[in-house]
Amino acid sequence: MVKEIYVKSILNKHRKRDEWFLDDYSLNPYKLCQFNCIYCYIRGSKYGESMDKELAVKINAPTLLEKELFKRAKRKEYGFIALSSSIEPWQPVEEKYRITRSCLEVISKFRFPVHCLTKSELILRDLDLFEEIDKKAVLPPDLRAISRGVLITFSLSTLDEQIARIFEPGAPKPKKRLETLQKVKEAGFCAGIAYIPVLPFISDSEEQLEEMVKTARELNADYVFVGALTLHGEGKKLYFKVIERHFPELLSEYKKLFKAYNQPSRNYQRKLEEKAKRLCEMHRVKYRIT
Ligand code: SF4
Repeated sequence: MVKEIYVKSILNKHRKRDEWFLDDYSLNPYKLCQFNCIYCYIRGSKYGESMDKELAVKINAPTLLEKELFKRAKRKEYGFIALSSSIEPWQPVEEKYRITRSCLEVISKFRFPVHCLTKSELILRDLDLFEEIDKKAVLPPDLRAISRGVLITFSLSTLDEQIARIFEPGAPKPKKRLETLQKVKEAGFCAGIAYIPVLPFISDSEEQLEEMVKTARELNADYVFVGALTLHGEGKKLYFKVIERHFPELLSEYKKLFKAYNQPSRNYQRKLEEKAKRLCEMHRVKYRIT
């Protein structure tokens, strides 16, 4: 049963633009997510294993967004809106509620650019609105070179269907996401892959990174970038339980890697990024959006 909630605000303005996703704003039309990925960082200290039980639709999101974008547009404070930064905007419940679609209508009306982050094929339903936004969005002056009002990024943590079933039990299969990316590209949009999170010792080998970059190349994706796994609170406990069950031989490595921080060491992250950059150069895929 999905709860219907009324929220006080809907548009988050960032103090600083996200350097990878390029968003100045973010918008989450739902609270939590039905895809239920084990590594999802919103499980954090609060939700742990009960994330799907707290799912709620922010029923007044489009009305609030209308008011907020009216003010921002008047002051010409244009910037990419990330849809979404911490939930899946095209999760199954969106088929019924269409709240994400209503928010896109408002975004189109006020001519804001949008960066869609998704794992879902339901995004194809909204290509008509993306066409409008792509044509008429006003970009912030320092991002005009992008010359696109819509960016669509598909997130993947592996291309292996079995591994995906363990870590992303409710999400569309990687193959389905890639087919959706292909359709979005064929429709003429700027789209790429966020290989986030790369799963240490499970999907971070040179071969796996290269396979992802080559796949992006074959699908004519505009960019690929990688990001390390973040684990904290209840989410970390759940992830470790899954490792213990499915990859017991990796448990001690994980404990070492996440001993001091919520993320792998800087050295691990530096090496991951270097590998990804090198492979992108080798296969002539852009390593980031700009
Ligand atoms: S799709 Fe994204 S928001 Fe939803 S559970 Fe997975 S990681 Fe979390």
